[in-house]
Amino acid sequence: MLGSHQSDGEGEAQVSRTDGARGEATRLIHAGRATAAASPVRTVAPTLQRGSTLLLPRSRDLYREDIPTYGMNSLAVHDALKAALGDLEGADHVELFSSGLAACTGAILCVVEAGDEILIVESVYGPTRRFCDRFLTRMGVTTRRFTPKASPDEVAAMIGPRTRLLVLESPGSLTFDMLDVAALARVARARGVLTMMDNTWAAGLIFKPLDHGVDLSVQALTKYVCGHSDVFLGSVAARDRAVALKLANFVRDTGASTSPDDVFQALRGLRTLKPRIERHGQNGLIVARWLQTRREVKRVLHPALPDDPGHGLWARDYAGACGLFGLVLEPASDSAVEAFLDRLKLFGLGFSWGGYESLAIPCDPQLRRTPAAQDLGGPLIRLHVGLEDPQDLINDLEQGFAALAAAPP
Ligand SMILES: *Cc1c(COP(=O)(O)O)cnc(C)c1O
Repeated sequence: MLGSHQSDGEGEAQVSRTDGARGEATRLIHAGRATAAASPVRTVAPTLQRGSTLLLPRSRDLYREDIPTYGMNSLAVHDALKAALGDLEGADHVELFSSGLAACTGAILCVVEAGDEILIVESVYGPTRRFCDRFLTRMGVTTRRFTPKASPDEVAAMIGPRTRLLVLESPGSLTFDMLDVAALARVARARGVLTMMDNTWAAGLIFKPLDHGVDLSVQALTKYVCGHSDVFLGSVAARDRAVALKLANFVRDTGASTSPDDVFQALRGLRTLKPRIERHGQNGLIVARWLQTRREVKRVLHPALPDDPGHGLWARDYAGACGLFGLVLEPASDSAVEAFLDRLKLFGLGFSWGGYESLAIPCDPQLRRTPAAQDLGGPLIRLHVGLEDPQDLINDLEQGFAALAAAPP
């Protein structure tokens, strides 16, 4: 083996040398392959294996049900991430998906049947809503929406004989409305209806849906768990055996598959999730409180602020905040809002969030697509506050406000 530091003729180097009598094509295929004594040194992270085919010692092992026989979602690194997420979520069963959206749609699809109806909160992640409107409608599943302001009793009154699933997200995408998740899960369960929650904002860390009676806890690992804006991945966690079985069968039947490289990155991100999210939350609140003092800002949408309408629920249920929140500007023209955003240098203009860096987007184009969007009384901006020094972020926003003031009305 060229470049091998081994000189004692052990391990893989010996395999290629003793096989030297074989043809070159054979040697190209069989030299330097994984051996049973896989990892000669012990690293901190689990060994990253890439594999579709798994080689089994005996032919009768090929059809065993109790061991992995195929590489799809069942390499050591998949098991390691599922175990770590199971611990985080307090779940007995976790499945991985290739994106957060695939996890949201998988969690819905694994439990619905043609003829069913689902109830979703209007403030749920936009692409999930679009999936319900387009795809589920074709599959014969009806979607009815309720506003995040609806009381649990009002939601309970919407439940009918065909209702199968309640779909929640708190705080809601873009508008940051808080839900009484425990009360909603309770009224659903009392009527035999399952509950699914998109918990990406809390990253499985600052809110634990399964502890509050939710059946399917979903998150886009793309955001805080991976944490570096370079991987797509999602997860669904469940505690109930029957639900877990439906979820596992769905993944198996549809071939939902995740790359070991991506899974490795998620596991790496998970190790620093807690200190990162704590810092995102602290920095976010520093910036949010400063924004509240600005005359250009009508309202800051952040449930950890005491005057936020969702603060009571947040204080009761949440162990902290992340760095994502909204701000409503005083009425301003589209071009003034563009001037504000385009002046920002530290806040990148881009979708997604949960990475180490700060981001900003205007939300009004998305809100206009939402029929029941509430009138916030001014343009809505979403900020993701990263791990930069908060004073630098404040200075950046101050420059943005200068551009806003200078823009033609
Ligand atoms: C980003 C996001 C998703 C989707 O995650 P992707 O990995 O981008 O598909 C789902 N839900 C919420 C709340 C999100 O913010």
